[in-house]
Amino acid sequence: MNAEIIAVGTELLMGELIDSNSAFLASEFPSLGISLKIAVKIGDDLGDLCKGLESALLRSDVVITTGGLGPTSDDLTREAISRYFGEEMKVDSKLLKDLKEGFAKRGISMPKTNIKQAKLIPSAIPLPNPNGTAPGWFVQKQSKIVIAMPGPPLELIPMWKNYVAPRLSSHSEGVSIAIKNIKTFGRSEGELDDLLTHLFRQSNPYLGIYSKQDGIHLRAIAEAATFSEATSLIDKIQNQITEIVGNNIIWGEDDDTPSKVAINLLHSKNLRLCVSESYTGGVICGLLSECELYEKVFYKGTIINVITLPKTKYSDSSGCCDKSCKADVHLNVSPLLTETDEPNDFGDVQITINYQNYTYNVSGRYRLKNIRMRQRASNHALIELIKILNSHS
Ligand code: ATP
Ligand code: MG
Repeated sequence: MNAEIIAVGTELLMGELIDSNSAFLASEFPSLGISLKIAVKIGDDLGDLCKGLESALLRSDVVITTGGLGPTSDDLTREAISRYFGEEMKVDSKLLKDLKEGFAKRGISMPKTNIKQAKLIPSAIPLPNPNGTAPGWFVQKQSKIVIAMPGPPLELIPMWKNYVAPRLSSHSEGVSIAIKNIKTFGRSEGELDDLLTHLFRQSNPYLGIYSKQDGIHLRAIAEAATFSEATSLIDKIQNQITEIVGNNIIWGEDDDTPSKVAINLLHSKNLRLCVSESYTGGVICGLLSECELYEKVFYKGTIINVITLPKTKYSDSSGCCDKSCKADVHLNVSPLLTETDEPNDFGDVQITINYQNYTYNVSGRYRLKNIRMRQRASNHALIELIKILNSHS
């Protein structure tokens, strides 16, 4: 099933708003067997929207719009769809009642302009929007499907998950998709591309390579008649990848994040972690604090101003901890002495891990005053911690 996305809104064309809705939908399609062909942005103009809808439906079976379902005069998605299908919009009494009740619950009376959010064309099924006022539309006509969802992600995402994805999955029966995202650190995109050239050439499973803040991701998408066939294609390519690149550069898969994997490993080994960071300025502690089992494994964190560090090669893994620190694992991230203070210059950042009487030192080169580099170095430090915990059974 081929699909296109039309993200509606002049804000998107002015560079004022980033189209995260299309990115979200694009990431959801593969598991439903939907192939995204084109994603466009169109401003709040009825003529442009009608033209966009018409050309999208010439090419694709499904068109999904986001935005333009609000109550104001520049919210024109409903008008465009009704014009395309040649159907008149009428106020639906049940939708109007629900809408009025929604306003009453908030203690306000419904402005007249909102009435248009209760309108439907005969071919449209309304999609509930418990997080906002505008219901979505699911229109199926002439072997085409048009789905209109609201712009705010907090409304669109639950509507997609609860009402749209289940409907679409019944339309794509006969095709099952399995996806695996393999996360690596330690080899460059170019090196991996070279090593895996023959796998990138095949189309099923399709293998993609993406450079991210936590390393290089390899994503395989397999399509087959049944889910178990698709999964066995994924298992096969995953084994091939592991054999070629080596297990030691793979630190996680799918939804894993370095902090989540590190915390889970610490928890499974009943270990407590002490972190001291100067270069990363608290980013590591912040990442860890977002994980579920954080309170169970985190012992102490210290942020050290880099200026106060002794002007010697900094490799004291215990950081600011004194001997009485009761943590089992110590992670320390500090810049080594650099020749320059220029913000864009690279310097060596030292990651030191103390565990079971061993001290591990690794260094990486990072721009010294750059937040993205600090985030990258934080992930690097956590991935080194994962490697060390994995290597001690
Ligand atoms: P509303 O009832 O809030 O007007 P709407 O369906 O009419 O909803 P828009 O008016 O197009 O949606 O956008 C409302 C807000 O939703 C935007 O200001 C923005 O915050 C968010 N939004 C809209 N489109 C997108 C998008 N493509 N990606 C991310 N956020 C979006
Ligand atoms: Mg709007």
